[in-house]
Amino acid sequence: MEMKMETLEKYTKLYEGKAKELWETSDSNYLISYFKDDITAGNGEKKDTMLRKGILNQNICTIIYEHLHECKVPTHFIKSIGPREQVVKKLSIIPVEVIVRNYAAGSICKRYNLPKGHKFKTPLLELFYKDDSLNDPLVVKDLVLEMEWCTAYELQEISRQAHILNMHMLHFWKQYGITLVDQKFEFGLDNDLNIMLGDEITPDTQRLWNKDGESLDKDVFREGNDLDEVHSVYQYIYDMISKGDS
Ligand code: C5P
Repeated sequence: MEMKMETLEKYTKLYEGKAKELWETSDSNYLISYFKDDITAGNGEKKDTMLRKGILNQNICTIIYEHLHECKVPTHFIKSIGPREQVVKKLSIIPVEVIVRNYAAGSICKRYNLPKGHKFKTPLLELFYKDDSLNDPLVVKDLVLEMEWCTAYELQEISRQAHILNMHMLHFWKQYGITLVDQKFEFGLDNDLNIMLGDEITPDTQRLWNKDGESLDKDVFREGNDLDEVHSVYQYIYDMISKGDS
């Protein structure tokens, strides 16, 4: 599949989500992903706008996707083309979110009354049905297969890829002394039916703790009200992984 990048034009908006917009382009195999400044929590119950958040997240996401590319992991990412924009492969998204947890935090603590910070003996994988109107409920594999939200092969493959991605991301953050607590992945099929990672990987979709157990991710927004603090955390993460090239 070859893309003439210089001739890629932005056409109509295909979709607008809570943090991003997806735009169709002159090449039906590719979309432009635009990172907004909106920040939400609790499926949009809490929302605000944080100046430059889209720029920080797009840059953080690009660094992570370029790292995953070096690790030879298939993703939808092609390249960053501006402060808020990326060219990505057009995927048919599987409506099942895959969450991999290394430590207990967030919804799993509430659901089972687990102590925050409990270290799982092996990374724990959970599936959630991607439906905002239902608040993305937890689902068991049998229901995913029964309702044909994906095939058995696709489910096996996205679970396999999620564990590999978690391993690469654990190592990535460890080099900065950061603990990767958990993260969400979304997968889809490209026009050639290859299964790969889509959406974003940012502090919106991962929990990151420093050596003192302090949050360096969207939990600062979920649990607080100081947007300046949230901004400084996202900026800190960007500065750290870009090695000062801001
Ligand atoms: O809320 P919960 O604890 O299940 O979230 C687990 C991980 O998945 C967190 O890193 C959270 O930021 C991410 N997540 C996400 N999008 C969702 C739900 C969770 O990025 N819709």
